[in-house]
Amino acid sequence: MITALFPGSFDPVTKGHESIVKKALPMFDKIIVAIGENTMKKNSMFSLEQRLQWLKDTFGNYDKVLIDSYSCLTTDYCKAKNVKYILRGLRDTADFQYEKNIADVNTMLDSEIETVFLLADKQETNISSSVVREMLLFGKDVKEFIPKGVIIPHK
Ligand code: ADP
Repeated sequence: MITALFPGSFDPVTKGHESIVKKALPMFDKIIVAIGENTMKKNSMFSLEQRLQWLKDTFGNYDKVLIDSYSCLTTDYCKAKNVKYILRGLRDTADFQYEKNIADVNTMLDSEIETVFLLADKQETNISSSVVREMLLFGKDVKEFIPKGVIIPHK
């Protein structure tokens, strides 16, 4: 049984995230899409419960996909779940630089863990959760950036 962890903030989940998981489905027996609450990165715009719900709305129909959250180091979560592969998406060289750092640190923390990178589809390279959040702040429609089943109420 080969399991991959797709960790992220998913604040909110986008078509970019959805596409990476769909591409990875044939490669793994199981994919855990999990919200890591360990990051010092930022305060999220949406609550953990809301973000989990949107992940369930997006991936609920896929038997291979499991939704979860964790508040420890990603490598410790992997160890606890016996996961050896971390899945991440790459949009551009900035992503690569950022992701390579994280992957290197994770390998330092646990040499058994390998990070698998998949490239974003061309039409999704400009989609990011932060762009979606920015648009929402200014009352714009974000339908084309988020998965079909996800409904973000207007504030
Ligand atoms: P984090 O807060 O850990 O960066 P994100 O939720 O922003 O998490 O992203 C999770 C993963 O999805 C990252 O590997 C990121 O590079 C990838 N990703 C985000 N947007 C896209 C996209 N449009 N296409 C492909 N991969 C993406």
